[in-house]
Amino acid sequence: MMCSKKNIAIIGGGPASSTLAIRLCRKGCKVVIFATPGRAPILVGESLVPMIVPMLQDLGVEAEVAAYSVYKPGACFTYNADEAFMFRFADMPKDFPSYSYNVPRVQFNATLLAAALQAGAKLIARNAQLLRVDDAGRIELDAESIQAAAGCWDGDKPDLIVDAAGRANLIGRLLNIPMQKGPRQDVALFAHVDRTELVDPGYVHNDRIDQGWCWRIPLPGRVSLGFVVPEAYALQQGETPERQYDHLLKTDTVLQRLAPDAQRVTEVLHFSNYQSISDKLCGENWVMLGDSGGFIDPVCSSGTLIAMTSAYKLADTLLADKPLAEYEAVTKRHLKAWFEIVGFYYNGRLMSSINVGQTLEDTIFNRWLFAWISGHVFRIFSGAAASHPFSLKVLRLLVTYGLKDQNPDVYKIK
Ligand SMILES: Cc1cc2nc3c(=O)[nH]c(=O)nc-3n(C[C@H](O)[C@H](O)[C@H](O)COP(=O)(O)OP(=O)(O)OC[C@H]3O[C@@H](n4cnc5c(N)ncnc54)[C@H](O)[C@@H]3O)c2cc1C
Repeated sequence: MMCSKKNIAIIGGGPASSTLAIRLCRKGCKVVIFATPGRAPILVGESLVPMIVPMLQDLGVEAEVAAYSVYKPGACFTYNADEAFMFRFADMPKDFPSYSYNVPRVQFNATLLAAALQAGAKLIARNAQLLRVDDAGRIELDAESIQAAAGCWDGDKPDLIVDAAGRANLIGRLLNIPMQKGPRQDVALFAHVDRTELVDPGYVHNDRIDQGWCWRIPLPGRVSLGFVVPEAYALQQGETPERQYDHLLKTDTVLQRLAPDAQRVTEVLHFSNYQSISDKLCGENWVMLGDSGGFIDPVCSSGTLIAMTSAYKLADTLLADKPLAEYEAVTKRHLKAWFEIVGFYYNGRLMSSINVGQTLEDTIFNRWLFAWISGHVFRIFSGAAASHPFSLKVLRLLVTYGLKDQNPDVYKIK
């Protein structure tokens, strides 16, 4: 193996970490994962986009994931409670997966981590701490973590430390690396509910509500329901996340029509401080992977896709002994593309242009045009071409010049 960084420490036990570990261990790297898995009763990240499926196949876990997940044939967007747009993956270009999964996330993480251990990674069940070594921005693991991993690497220290600890952003905080922030100041309130009808039992549902939007993700025996609302609006609903969630569940006029009987069956988790990309993703002996380097927004279910594709890119970069700057450039481009894409959802332009497409006069040319544009749009939202310059250009042109006389404010997310 020509790779000069083959003794790797990965902090975090989420999908980014496990995916990287599997890819590196298969090529003979010595990988140690620092994580304390299995503590949270529920985790976000349950709706997966189709382009995750080929990765699950490559990692050898699709059958296991399928056994406890809900098969996902598409996505349903509701606007104004009575306008629904169903987006069926089977209508996508045929060279892409026509399905995905809605996953109970605690089990999903456990499956990937078990696969990483089976591939040869070592798990140290502790939360690693990081220390700054010098002003040049080198970092190291705390002495206890090094000691706990004794014998796992060639030598007593890793060649590279990977921060895959999610939005904890360990390295960014340690080195005071600025984050580029997005325009929205939303919070997400997340729990599982029962007694909730869905337009289609496998589809992920995205509903525009009085202020903000909510997701409804079908899981075995229950539905994940999360609110994404402006922070100030959440605070008006009650003092605690539980009160805010329960109040929204009972009083939002759209949900009253869509899920009038929904009952919360878990605790409520609260998330803020997202829509951000770290200014730097790598240094001399460290790299950020997955949410630690940037998390855009839950709306397009792109988080796990970005985390896992970045893990593939990082593994390829390390194994080919290329500069980490190459991984950084590709990953930032991917994150920035999703920033732009989710903006088209929030400003109402995406739905307006879809609406125009659906009401086009039925001519041969229009049918061809609709199929051609849809192909590019599907490629983006399935995760296949989110940062592909040509598909992005088509989407930009569509939401800029394809609105005819539609006012995008009708579909804007407040
Ligand atoms: C509200 C919300 C909804 C979302 N919905 C979706 C969705 O439907 N679909 C989707 O694809 N994505 C979704 N995401 C994004 C998705 O959850 C993440 O993008 C994805 O989990 C990133 O994976 P990761 O491995 O980078 O980080 P994580 O999954 O966050 O894993 C990081 C792990 O590191 C651990 N850790 C933290 N500090 C330490 C430490 N010091 N030592 C050791 N371990 C540590 C954490 O406990 C965690 O287990 C959502 C995110 C939010 C906030």
